[in-house]
Amino acid sequence: DSLSNKINAGEVVERPASVVKELVENAIDANSTNIEVEIEEAGLSKIRIIDNGDGIEEDDVLRAFARHATSKIKDENDLFRIKTLGFRGEALPSIASVSKVELITSTGAGAGTRLVLEGGKQITFEPAPSRKGTDFTVSNLFFNTPARLKYLKTIHTELGNITDVMNRLALAHPEIAMKLIHNGRTLLHTTGNGDARQVLSAIYGFNIVKKMIPIHATSLDFQLDGYLALPELTRASRNYISTMVNGRFIKNYGIANAVIAGYHTLLPIGRFPLVFLNITMDPILIDVNVHPTKMEVRLSKEQDLFILITETIKNAFRKQTL
Ligand code: ADP
Ligand code: MG
Repeated sequence: DSLSNKINAGEVVERPASVVKELVENAIDANSTNIEVEIEEAGLSKIRIIDNGDGIEEDDVLRAFARHATSKIKDENDLFRIKTLGFRGEALPSIASVSKVELITSTGAGAGTRLVLEGGKQITFEPAPSRKGTDFTVSNLFFNTPARLKYLKTIHTELGNITDVMNRLALAHPEIAMKLIHNGRTLLHTTGNGDARQVLSAIYGFNIVKKMIPIHATSLDFQLDGYLALPELTRASRNYISTMVNGRFIKNYGIANAVIAGYHTLLPIGRFPLVFLNITMDPILIDVNVHPTKMEVRLSKEQDLFILITETIKNAFRKQTL
């Protein structure tokens, strides 16, 4: 019902950046190769995501906005072998309950569908042109939850959160062309050529990326791939340690500490490295179901992983100085 959707929205949709994250993840799950995100006023007046993915069948459009409607879990065991980003079926009803949503979607076969919802209530449901993909506009975010609006920080901070989300998703998917436009200005543009260095350049600039060392290491359970900035390019915050597990951006304090330990004495006090790390492991070792926003994960054999990370980074710099 609409009340539980609104309560639930507080968990899944904390801020404009959470909306961007959920919608872009849906576009990724739908096999898009091109995703464009246009926002206005840091997402409060408008968030529009245009993808060229699979689209949604007319019959499934309304169902997608029902609680726990997900096309991504076939049986209970799937929860432990999650490959797609979304799996809870909570995002669309939560977002729709606190905004105005316009969705134009088509599978490319036959007519498309246009749906307009306000505060989760259906306003329009009609046929639309059949461009393959989905065009999703969220406007007036949090119009009916004033407490949530008040809790938001400045436009600057909220925009920063959105940029972070987009940067991470672009890093996780160098094979997908992504664009982020805020108030008409392009903030991120990746080509989708599959090279993580291209994405890193789009985010940090080529001058930094040409000073990054590629790393690759494997152990029985883990594979590490990534890029390390030279110690001279240290940052004032840990936020520049980007870690991914099986293509999903994650937060794990232990992993960040293992990275920092790898730089060891090379870091001045209070400074942190700029690192992009992609960890591959059997999904059976991951418990992603810790938080609705799915950023925090629990890992089995964590200690082995931490050692592998620290040692790999130490070795990379040892080789550098030889
Ligand atoms: P989840 O991603 O957890 O399945 P969501 O509420 O985010 O749940 O989305 C509900 C369903 O709507 C998805 O399972 C998917 O079938 C469909 N969907 C949402 N966004 C898109 C999109 N951009 N392209 C194709 N299908 C989509
Ligand atoms: Mg989703």
